Amino acid sequence: MKRILLAMTAVLLTSAMSVSAQIQRPRLVVGIVVDQMRWDYLYQYYDMWGSGGFKRLLGEGYSCANTMIDYVPTVTACGHATVYTGTTPAIHGIAGNDYMLNGQPTSSVKDTTVTGVGTTGKVGHRSPRNLLVTTLGDQMKLATRDQARAVGISLKDRAAILPAGHGADGAYWYDNDTHQFVTSTYYRTELPKWVKDFNKSHKKQLARDVWKDPVGVTMTFGMARAALKAEKLGHDAVPDLLAISVSTTDAAGHEFGAMSAEMTPIYAQLDTELAELLKVLDKEVGQGNYLVFLTADHGGTYSEPHMQARRMMSGRFYSNTTLEETNAQLQHRFGVADLLRTQMGYTFYLNNEAIARAGLDRDAVKTAIVDIMGNRPEVMWAVDAERVNEASIPQEIRERIIKGYHHKRSGEIFVMPVTGYYSSWSGDERGTQHGSWNQSDSHIPLLFYGWHVPHGEKTALTHMTDIAPTVCAMLHIQAPDGCLGQPIEF
Ligand SMILES: [Zn+2]
Repeated sequence: MKRILLAMTAVLLTSAMSVSAQIQRPRLVVGIVVDQMRWDYLYQYYDMWGSGGFKRLLGEGYSCANTMIDYVPTVTACGHATVYTGTTPAIHGIAGNDYMLNGQPTSSVKDTTVTGVGTTGKVGHRSPRNLLVTTLGDQMKLATRDQARAVGISLKDRAAILPAGHGADGAYWYDNDTHQFVTSTYYRTELPKWVKDFNKSHKKQLARDVWKDPVGVTMTFGMARAALKAEKLGHDAVPDLLAISVSTTDAAGHEFGAMSAEMTPIYAQLDTELAELLKVLDKEVGQGNYLVFLTADHGGTYSEPHMQARRMMSGRFYSNTTLEETNAQLQHRFGVADLLRTQMGYTFYLNNEAIARAGLDRDAVKTAIVDIMGNRPEVMWAVDAERVNEASIPQEIRERIIKGYHHKRSGEIFVMPVTGYYSSWSGDERGTQHGSWNQSDSHIPLLFYGWHVPHGEKTALTHMTDIAPTVCAMLHIQAPDGCLGQPIEF
C-alpha cells in the first residue's frame, strides 16, 4: 500500500512538474522583411545563392509558397504593419505610405509631438502612434510581463518603427542628411552608445548611396548584428524580437527595375548577409533556439520596357493625369471644380466640402467618378470603396478592397489598373512599381526557419495576415488585438 502511494505521489509530482515547467519558447524571434521581394526571386536567383543564406532557409526550413497579401494597396507601410499585426489597413489604420489623417495628408509614421535623436531633420518626427493595434512585439511584452525586448532596424523609418511596435525598446532608421542611424524621442532622449559607435565606425559606408548600392544591405545587417549583441537579444529564456527590414531592394528596384543587372549584386549581398546573420545567431543564441521568418512587404511589377520587349502586356497608369481629367469631366457634368480632392497612388479622395457646399448628391458624384475612371483604357475597374458590394468584380478583389479601406483615412475611390499596367509616380522608364492586387505585387515569399520548424513546403493559400498569429501560436501568446489571420500549420 505504502509503495503504491509513493508511486502515485511520484506520478502526481511528475505531472505537476511537467505542467509547471517553463513554457517552451524560442529565445529569439527574428523577423526579416525584404522590401519589394517578389516570391519568384527565390528561384530567379536560386543558382546565385550560396549554401548558408536563402538555400539554408529553403533547404532546412518551411516555405509557404502561395502567400498572398490580402488587401490593397500593396505598399511598404501597409505591408510592415500587416506582417507584425496580422491585420489589414481597414483595422490597423496604416492606409498607405501616405494618407489623410483628420483631413490632412500625413505619412504613415509621422508624429510632430516627437523630435529626432541623432538628427534635427524631419525624419526624426516619427513614431508608431498612427498604428491603431498591438503588434507581435507588443504581445510578446504583454505575455512576459515586459521581459521580452523588441528592436527594429531598417533604412526606412516606417520599416523600423511599425515592426518594432508601440512598446519597442528601440527602432533605428537612416537619416539622409547626417548619413547615420537615428531614432526619435518617442523611444529615448539620446542615441545608445552602440548606435553611436556603429555610426562612427561605418562613417564611410554610411556616406555612400545606401539606397541603391549593396552597401545599404550590409549596413542594415551590420546594425542588426550590433543590436543583437548590445541589447542582449536572445540571451535568456524569455523570447525577444529583432525586426530587420531591407530597404535597398525597394529603392533600387524602383530605379533599375525587376531582374535588371543592377539588382543582382544587391540580392547576392542580401544572401551573404543572411548567411552571416544565421552564423552569428548560431553562435550567440544557439542553433535551434531562435525562430526566423522571412517575407516581403509587397512584390513588384516588371517595367514597361521589360515587358514590351517580350510583346507582353504592360503600360502606365498616371494618377495625376487621371485626377485632372476626371475633375474636368466632373466640372462639365456638375458645374463644380475639383470634386476630387487628391490622389494617393491608386486611391482617390473626394472633395466632400465642395460636394456639400454645392449641395450635390454625394452618391451621384461617386457614380460619375466610377463611370469616368472606369472607362479609361488603362483602368480595369474604378470602385466606390463605400459600396464595394455593388461592384461587379471578383470576390477576391472585392475582399482586398474592403480589407484595405480605412473609412476615416483612405480615399473613397479605389482604382485597379489593367493587369500589367502600373502607377507611374516616379516617371522612370526601367523602374519597378507596386501597389496593385495582381500576382506581381501581392505574391510574397514566406519562409520559416529554426525553432520547432520542420522542413517542408505548402502550396495551399496562406496570407500575409497569417504570419503574426503563426508566430504567436508557436510562442503560446495571444495574437495581436486586431488580428484577422490564422496560424499556419506546418
Ligand atoms: Zn516601393
